[in-house]
Amino acid sequence: MKTIIEPFRIKSIETVRTTTVEQREEILKNAYYNPFLIPAEDVLIDLLTDSGTSAMSAKQWAAIMDGDESYAGSKSYFRFKNATENIFGFKHIIPVHQGRAAERILFQFLLSSIDEEGRFNNAGKGKTIPSNNHFDTTRANIEFNGAEAVDLVIEEGKHPEVIHPFKGNMDLKKLEAFIKKYGKENIPVCMITITNNTGGGQPVSMENIREVSKICRKNGIPFFIDACRFAENAYFIKIREKGYENKEILDICREMFSYADGCTMSAKKDAFANIGGFVAMNSEDWYLNCKNLLIITEGYETYGGLAGRDMEAIAQGLEEIVDEGYLHYRIHSTKYLGDKLTENGIPIIQPPGGHAIYVDAKGFLPNIPADKYPGQALTAELYRIGGVRAVEIGSVMFGKYDEKGKLIPADMELVRLAIPRRVYTQSHIDYLIEVFCEIKENKDKIHGIKIIEEPKFLRHFTAKFGLA
Ligand SMILES: *Cc1c(COP(=O)(O)O)cnc(C)c1O
Repeated sequence: MKTIIEPFRIKSIETVRTTTVEQREEILKNAYYNPFLIPAEDVLIDLLTDSGTSAMSAKQWAAIMDGDESYAGSKSYFRFKNATENIFGFKHIIPVHQGRAAERILFQFLLSSIDEEGRFNNAGKGKTIPSNNHFDTTRANIEFNGAEAVDLVIEEGKHPEVIHPFKGNMDLKKLEAFIKKYGKENIPVCMITITNNTGGGQPVSMENIREVSKICRKNGIPFFIDACRFAENAYFIKIREKGYENKEILDICREMFSYADGCTMSAKKDAFANIGGFVAMNSEDWYLNCKNLLIITEGYETYGGLAGRDMEAIAQGLEEIVDEGYLHYRIHSTKYLGDKLTENGIPIIQPPGGHAIYVDAKGFLPNIPADKYPGQALTAELYRIGGVRAVEIGSVMFGKYDEKGKLIPADMELVRLAIPRRVYTQSHIDYLIEVFCEIKENKDKIHGIKIIEEPKFLRHFTAKFGLA
């Protein structure tokens, strides 16, 4: 059969609410044109994020009922520990409430000097951390600790229309030059994000992971993987990289992590959980220091900010995510959306990524300049026309200002349509394609956007906007 169907059936449903264009115009105004400020009940199809929005399986819900809420050494912690060891294979694991807590602990430790009393004193200044592309919370946690986060993705990864099987790869020459320039003593860790969320949900090849690891080891720099979408990345390796076509997904995952010294993970992505995450590592010394930070702010080491039931949901989810039948459906259903948009003349990052389709707003709305935020304008229009919620990944998220307060735009102006796992059916996606076709008809009338109010870090979450 050529048709790829959802490899599940629906047992429990949530009703979604339809609104009119007039109602949505009012809602948009009240939300200051920031999709994060729109009440979820007023959204018809919610593609804001694939984070924590997965539909859990009956087995996950059953595991939740079986959660052990003991403060120390709960049965659920050991199930969680075993499930993560089985895939990631690192010696130490620290459960946290979500990915950014893992980042906060890791970077606060790495970017501090620790005094004789065991206190952490910030020493991030002058330090730099390379990655293919840092995700926004990763970047924020590095910068918040005074260091610099640098993106070294391959050139192909910066051009939406260029096709490359592994557009998430790190540029190895740039990495070597970077290490020479800044000195290994100023690079406490090197990261790679799989799949590369910021760069379009694009995968990283096994060869690239192996080579980055080699360069790091040669220079004595620890190497960490931002593992949020590790299973999707493994599936892309299986279908696109020579030598992996007959390998099991689990074995591909194990090989990826065998090259690293540790990883950070948001279980809200490739673990089908609504909350949770972890940081894992081989170094005993790092583990002891990170554990101290964990206990001060997150919780005791065998739950770290999670309920026992959450650890159960994650453990069960990790078993389900490496299922090849599921990943086949996941990657192909995302491609279905990407291919249909392309057929209808909507420019997207090619080829379609794993968890999301990234519309090239700069290409789609050439009349709106970067300082009128074409991506933000398109998210407003998607909501106005179709009740669809998406997120800008462009100059609102990553723009900076020069000394004169002039915008330094991001490399790309994108709108991310993130697809929650196992939540929407093909007819939801067909509706979305229709919404885009309608927007295209009148796209020259779409207003630019201006910023009215913004915080210093991660401004896209809470900034207020108006029509420019
Ligand atoms: C979501 C995400 C994070 C942060 O995880 P949270 O659970 O949202 O805190 C880090 N890196 C990547 C690549 C992500 O997609």
